[in-house]
Amino acid sequence: MSEYEIETVDGPAAADEAAAPVPVVAVVGRPNVGKSTLVNRILGRREAVVEDVPGVTRDRVAYEATWSGRRFTIVDTGGWVPDATGLAAAIAEQARLAVDLADVVLFVVDATVGATDVDDAVVEILRRSGKPVVLVANKVDDAATEADAALLWSLGIGEPHPVSALHGRGSGDLLDAVLEALPAEPPPETYGEVGGPRRVALLGRPNVGKSSLLNKLAGENRAVVDSVAGTTRDPVDELIELGGREWRFIDTAGIRRRHRENQGADFYATLRTQSALERAEVAVVLIDASEPLADQDLRIISMVIEAGRALVIAYNKWDLLDEERRYYLEREIDRQLHNARWAPRVNISARTGRHVEKLVPALDTALEGWGTRVPTSQLNRFFADLVAAHPHPVRGGKQPRVLFATQADVRPPRFVLFTTGFLEEGYRRFIERRLREEFGFQGTPIDLVMRIRE
Ligand code: GDP
Ligand code: GDP
Repeated sequence: MSEYEIETVDGPAAADEAAAPVPVVAVVGRPNVGKSTLVNRILGRREAVVEDVPGVTRDRVAYEATWSGRRFTIVDTGGWVPDATGLAAAIAEQARLAVDLADVVLFVVDATVGATDVDDAVVEILRRSGKPVVLVANKVDDAATEADAALLWSLGIGEPHPVSALHGRGSGDLLDAVLEALPAEPPPETYGEVGGPRRVALLGRPNVGKSSLLNKLAGENRAVVDSVAGTTRDPVDELIELGGREWRFIDTAGIRRRHRENQGADFYATLRTQSALERAEVAVVLIDASEPLADQDLRIISMVIEAGRALVIAYNKWDLLDEERRYYLEREIDRQLHNARWAPRVNISARTGRHVEKLVPALDTALEGWGTRVPTSQLNRFFADLVAAHPHPVRGGKQPRVLFATQADVRPPRFVLFTTGFLEEGYRRFIERRLREEFGFQGTPIDLVMRIRE
């Protein structure tokens, strides 16, 4: 399988092991063996396949499924090969597709019919691929048909799992077998995702007003200094109540400890920023609005994006701005901050307290976008429309297509696009822009990964 992982410019760094994609299970088999019935059975709802408009090629039919708490995407490849010449060729093409796209192939055979030549051909393709295959002996509606299932051992790709997709018989055992064949689950995230106050990093270059803002926030609201349980070490967070809820401000000790290290201050500042980001869910990047944007401001914003954290941009020292500066500031922002246009923005003054209360809704917005998950069915519709209305430009006689997509992760949202070729950057940006228009994702970087079959 030729597989490329391509990160968008806005995406988190490549080494983001927590964001392993949701595994893909592809269903392959001759017509009428019961693939759609089986997919419906696995999804546990009848409308899943019916939902597809009749007459429209059943392109990109991918669904989210869960079994024993494990999520995976199930793809019915049946509709993907509209007019290959002859059944055998069509099924072979289907099998190749499945092998390219999937982590596990569910090969469905009608046990009441037995193995056909076409089935043998498919087995050949599956075997050569080395992909895990789960063999489904379908239409085993009762014990009497079990013997038919056993005959399918002759296919030589392992144990046939007797199932009645129609009535549900054996489907639990089948799903257990599928789970077993899936790649190992990614390790759980280091920092708890549920419960506890949301974790905020207050970032910005020296003198932008971090400690002033912190004092403002903490001063008017009771602050609890919280030396992280069990450690006497430095990173001390502060729990601050804002908008009726507690928030954990990360490493406030580091913010308050006035720039002690003059030598290599930059280096330490970067380290501090990085370690705060590791522990934070959302970053507020403070920018001194009274001065021109500095490279360091942009670097800090890039660090947040690369760390895959939610982002709020706060222009501080708004009290110092006159009309003229405001005008230039807007243009600066437009020109220089285009890669973070999606970040909620607040214009505040840590000194006077102006609009400081707007931080909370901005944080909420960013955290919401960060955690947004789009159901696969909606995504498929979105991509079908997008590809139809705005196909990728033809390059060298080829036109890459998005076959389907899944949202593999949240915090930040991460999409895996299954494509027939390399999507160029302009097109990926276009996709990202349209995703944001359609689904929001305010305040969060979006990660687009391509899985290319060639
Ligand atoms: P596909 O073309 O492989 O997607 O097959 P379908 O899911 O459309 O099923 C084809 C036919 O087989 C339909 O009439 C189903 O009702 C029937 N069928 C599917 N699974 C079973 C099963 O487990 N037992 C029986 N008796 N019929 C089934
Ligand atoms: P830090 O290094 O980011 O923690 O920045 P500080 O909070 O120490 O602020 C640096 C300087 O900017 C101090 O002299 C503050 O009084 C001043 N300052 C911070 N916020 C504001 C503001 O909103 N307006 C004005 N005029 N000055 C501010």
